[in-house]
Amino acid sequence: MDSNDFREYAHQIVDWMADYFDNIEDYPVKPNIEPGSIFDQLPGQPPRDSKSMNDILVDFEKIIMPGMTHWESPRFMAYFPANKSYPSVLAEMLTATLGAQCMSWITSPAATELEEQMMVWLRDMVGLPDEFTGVIQDTASTATLAALLMAREKITDFGVNESGFPANQQFAIYCSSETHSSIEKDVKIAGFGRQNLRKIQVDDNFAMNPEALEEAIKSDLNAGHKPTCVVATIGTTGSTAIDPLKEIAEVCSRYEVFLHVDAAYAGTALLLPEMRWMIEGINSVDTFVFNPHKWMFTNFDCSAFFVQDEELLVRTFEINPEYLRTPEDKRVKNYRDWGIQLGRRFRALKLWFVIRSFGVDTLQKKIRSHLDIAESFKRQIENSEHFDLMAPVPLNTICFRYHPPSMDDEKILNRLNMKLLDEIQQNGHFFLTHTKLDGKFTIRVVLGNTRLEQRHADELWSYLQKITQTLPPSK
Ligand SMILES: *Cc1c(COP(=O)(O)O)cnc(C)c1O
Repeated sequence: MDSNDFREYAHQIVDWMADYFDNIEDYPVKPNIEPGSIFDQLPGQPPRDSKSMNDILVDFEKIIMPGMTHWESPRFMAYFPANKSYPSVLAEMLTATLGAQCMSWITSPAATELEEQMMVWLRDMVGLPDEFTGVIQDTASTATLAALLMAREKITDFGVNESGFPANQQFAIYCSSETHSSIEKDVKIAGFGRQNLRKIQVDDNFAMNPEALEEAIKSDLNAGHKPTCVVATIGTTGSTAIDPLKEIAEVCSRYEVFLHVDAAYAGTALLLPEMRWMIEGINSVDTFVFNPHKWMFTNFDCSAFFVQDEELLVRTFEINPEYLRTPEDKRVKNYRDWGIQLGRRFRALKLWFVIRSFGVDTLQKKIRSHLDIAESFKRQIENSEHFDLMAPVPLNTICFRYHPPSMDDEKILNRLNMKLLDEIQQNGHFFLTHTKLDGKFTIRVVLGNTRLEQRHADELWSYLQKITQTLPPSK
């Protein structure tokens, strides 16, 4: 391939991309295919000879596209969205073209300095105090791991970095029973051990009970364990419950426990001043993460990690081999020391494109419209005799179940809703996922896609009416 071919195919692919976005609603959200069917269409060996880009693109359409789940579809209402937008995709093309490794200032000064300024913008956009400085990580899982490692090094005075865990000392980590699974994974990776993760009980709103947290900390202290870190969640993955940050922060201050906030999804809602009640108490939080790659129209990956104590973060991760030293080290940020990876993608560029192309006002307007659409969908569920609302709706995730009048056996209701979700998945017109709340099978609808309009929620509502009528009676 030469530069002329590249130019020709790049134009062709950009046309394909624009058509894809234009026609996204014509695709089934989720493919209805058997496991292995894509793998079986791919040859077991790489080609010895060069294939033409034409052939590759034909196979892309023929083999790959039919096996894709379309996260871009406004009828994708599963998990949490992984939104993108035109400016974000354009920036990602430039990032791929420049291909910079943004580990040190010198390896791309513009990338470092843009990241620095974007994190100031983001910090102010979501209403974090000025004391926070930020860095872009790949995912919230990684950011939370970084927070746990900071907590570990703080409580051991950098002892674990130096000589490993002390014998006969347990370090306890706390989160709620509704916390994202990545916290448990991070606890394992950081060496604390899964048994030292305390899953604190939640209240009726599925938010952490701060009294139960305090009890757990006390009982660990009595047992000679070291309470090391609390992970509070703003917007749990199951039902977007908001842990009471102010009360949790007070407990953490009282016992001098490191406090990390996981706002991976809900952080974007903080763009709206009227949603900042969610982070009351933020001043005494040590670290905070949210993912612009979920709801803020910036394509994966882009996770914003903020810390109050920059020195603690850098001391936790810093390495300084001779071959990475530069004369500017004292005057610049070297983001390789701000996390796990050495090589880092140039992710600040897409944030810059997104924030400038939308403008903060339009971003706020879009987020508000998602909250409004969710509010009206919630009211439909509440007012229906055939559905139960299963959790409060502080944001735009609605947890519900089908509940025909006079059917009150929990086991039958669970089975009926499993069947309902299965029908929805098979059909592929909408993609919804589920959770369990209080042991009850619960269907989740997340109304936050870049292209979401009121009509998509209306369409889902009619579809639910129609499909529940066809459900076979269940025992
Ligand atoms: C999505 C999510 C995560 C994991 O995010 P990644 O960026 O995929 O690691 C963690 N916590 C919460 C609350 C989430 O919603």
